[in-house]
Amino acid sequence: MATVPTYSLVVPVFNEAENLEAMYHRVHRVMDALDGDFELILIDDGSRDRSLSIMQQLHRQDPRVGYIGLARNFGHQVAVTAGLQYAQGQAVIVLDADLQDPPELIPELAAAWRQGYRVVYAQRLSRQKESWLKRVTAYSFYRILNRLADVTIPTDTGDFCLMDRQVVDVLNTMPERNRYLRGLRAWVGFPQTAITYHREPRLAGLPKYTLLKSFLLAIDGIISLSRVPLKLATYLGLLSALLALGMIGLVLYWRFAYATSPLIGYALITVAIFFLGSVQLISIGILGEYVGRIYEEVKGRPLYTIREVQGMGFKSTKGKPADQPCPWPGAARQR
Ligand code: UDP
Ligand code: MG
Repeated sequence: MATVPTYSLVVPVFNEAENLEAMYHRVHRVMDALDGDFELILIDDGSRDRSLSIMQQLHRQDPRVGYIGLARNFGHQVAVTAGLQYAQGQAVIVLDADLQDPPELIPELAAAWRQGYRVVYAQRLSRQKESWLKRVTAYSFYRILNRLADVTIPTDTGDFCLMDRQVVDVLNTMPERNRYLRGLRAWVGFPQTAITYHREPRLAGLPKYTLLKSFLLAIDGIISLSRVPLKLATYLGLLSALLALGMIGLVLYWRFAYATSPLIGYALITVAIFFLGSVQLISIGILGEYVGRIYEEVKGRPLYTIREVQGMGFKSTKGKPADQPCPWPGAARQR
C-alpha cells in the first residue's frame, strides 16, 4: 500500500453547538477529496451548551473524529495548544469551529505544504460582516505589533494555518504559559508562506471572543514578543532628565541676566522634581531590563530551531573512530 500523508485538524470549540455538525460535514467533504488520511480533533473549551455531547456523537459515527473535553474554559489559545499536543498528523491544520475559516481552503494549504513550506498561513483579504470596531482595532493592532515585536507577524493572519510536524514538535517543546500562537508560529522560523482568502461571516451564534478577550490577547501578543514596553520607563526618565537640564540652563540664565527674578525659586523646585523623577524612572528602567532578561529565561524557549542537519560526526578514513559523535541537543557530552 502506498503511503499517504496524514492530516490532523485541530478545532477549538466554545459553545458552538449550532456549528459543529455543519463544520464536520464540510471538513469531511474536503478531506475525502484530499490525498491523505485525516483526524479531526475537537477541543471542547468548557462549553456550556451541547457542544460536548455533539462531539461524542460525531465520534461514535466516525472514529476519525476525536475530542478533548477541557474541564473548564481555558481560552482559545490554550485549547489550540491542547489540540496541537494530541495531533499526530504530518500536517496539522488549525481552524475555527464557526466556519469563518473555510475548510475548502485546505487543499490549497496542503499544496503549498507539499512544495516544501513548513508553515502555510491563511491571510484575510476581507472580513465580511464584522463590526467596524473589530476591523479598526484588528487593522491597527497588527501594525503596532509589527513595529514593536522582534519577529515579523504577517498582517491579517489569524490562527488558521497548516503547520508541518517539525514546526508542531517545536511548538510543543515551548513551555511558556502565555501562548500567543501566531507569534510563536512566526518565531520558530522555517519556510513560511501565505494563501489569501476572504473571511466569511460566522455561520451561527455570537462571537466567543468579546472585545475584552481580544484586547487581552493583543496585550499578550505584544508582551510575549516585545521588550519595548519595558523600555518605556527608561525613555520617559531620559526625557525628564533632559527637561531638568533645560531648566537648569534657564535658572542660570535668569540668575545672571536678571539677578533678582522671583521665578528662580520656583524654577529650582521644578528642576528638583524633574531631576528626582528622572532618577526614579531610569532606575525603574534598569529594573525593567533585568525583569526582561528574567522573562526571557523563564519563557524557556529553545535558543534556535533547526531545519536540517547533515554530515555531523566523524567519517573515518584511518580506521575506526575513537568515540561516537555526541548527539545534540539533549545528550550530555561523555568522556
Ligand atoms: N473559542 C474557544 N475558547 C474561547 C473563545 C473562543 O475555544 O474562550 C473558539 C471558538 O469556539 C471558535 C474560535 O475559538 O472556534 C474563534 O472564536 P470566535 O469565532 O469567537 O473569534 P473571532 O472569529 O471573532 O476572532
Ligand atoms: Mg469566529
